[in-house]
Amino acid sequence: MVLPEDPSIELLRDLLSGGGPDEELFRSAHLKLLEEMGGRVYLRGLVEISNNCRKNCFYCGLRRDNASIDRYSMRPMEIMGSLRRGYRLGLRSFLLQSGELLGEEHLEMVAGILRSCSSTMPGARMVLSLGELPEEIYDRLRIAGGHRYLLRIETSSPVLYGHFHPDDPLHSHGARLRALEYLRDSGWQTGTGVLIGLPGQTVEDLAEDILFMKRMDMDMVGMGPYIESPGTPLLERADEIFPAETRILLTLRMIALTRLALPGVNIAATTALQTLSVSGLERGLLAGANVVMPNLTPERYRESYNLYTGKTRVRDTPSEMIDDLRDRCLAIGRELSLYDPGDPPHFKERTGRGESPDDDR
Ligand code: SAH
Ligand code: SF4
Repeated sequence: MVLPEDPSIELLRDLLSGGGPDEELFRSAHLKLLEEMGGRVYLRGLVEISNNCRKNCFYCGLRRDNASIDRYSMRPMEIMGSLRRGYRLGLRSFLLQSGELLGEEHLEMVAGILRSCSSTMPGARMVLSLGELPEEIYDRLRIAGGHRYLLRIETSSPVLYGHFHPDDPLHSHGARLRALEYLRDSGWQTGTGVLIGLPGQTVEDLAEDILFMKRMDMDMVGMGPYIESPGTPLLERADEIFPAETRILLTLRMIALTRLALPGVNIAATTALQTLSVSGLERGLLAGANVVMPNLTPERYRESYNLYTGKTRVRDTPSEMIDDLRDRCLAIGRELSLYDPGDPPHFKERTGRGESPDDDR
């Protein structure tokens, strides 16, 4: 299957609704990945640094009004400990994620972590996913040592966005879009993504999402199925949610079509996909994904970072986790890439800048 460089909305919609044989679609996307970027699988060590959040997204368990979770913020020493353990095991890229917090103390703590990583963990790429922050804060974090930023648009449709967020200035699709554009234009390797299988979302919406990510010239993509989350208003629409296998299939088609339409980007086989499907990791990689995110968050905090229900409980040590990932990649003919930050080639094409953003700092 050869997808034109600028696929039409009709073609994407047709393939997303299962109009072509899925196996052929996944195989083509996998082949495209191997041709363009090789078969290496890159790791991002994930540290969920705080589950406090000022927002109230209808789908997310961390929302401000969910009183049923224990809130925590990791101390800098704990975060550095988790990062160092990963670094010693060969990880060269780390994702710090939290709810959206504007407090100076939190942001200065993150800046401090980035500065420590710059000086003590050479070659590591620091990825942030901290939500919408003022532009001067994005700049401050980049100068402190941040390389990549992930800000999912969640859905490219402003109307659909309005169905899943409170109608107030804190939850503005326009503001989220402007934040993403600012990140892209201010030197960050930039990633976005969408939720797949939201109640009322159509294949037309998802096709638009792919075209949006292409138009936005993104370097990285992280998307996963929507998963029910206790204590959230969206559960009231539970009868409209597709069965898990449908959401998985839609996610795999989205990964494959994104790989074909946006070659040179990094695409994650996300935790949400792995939560809905025990073989989500393998299925995601074989549909064109090339990044996985082992969770380095200390076990005592993991249960409280519940964006959604049913996250697989991993009791393995980071070292066992990496061994397991290596075996699973090998079993599908892919190679786990350690000691390599895995920059997306698209960033170089887009900016003309070296693979290492450090060179240009
Ligand atoms: N607060 C930051 C980052 C943490 S949330 C932000 O919102 O950008 C990270 C991602 O988790 C969100 O972008 C959203 O796409 C995803 N998420 C939240 N609730 C989810 C759910 N119920 N199912 C699947 N993914 C969910
Ligand atoms: Fe907060 Fe992000 Fe969850 Fe929205 S998706 S409630 S911003 S953690």
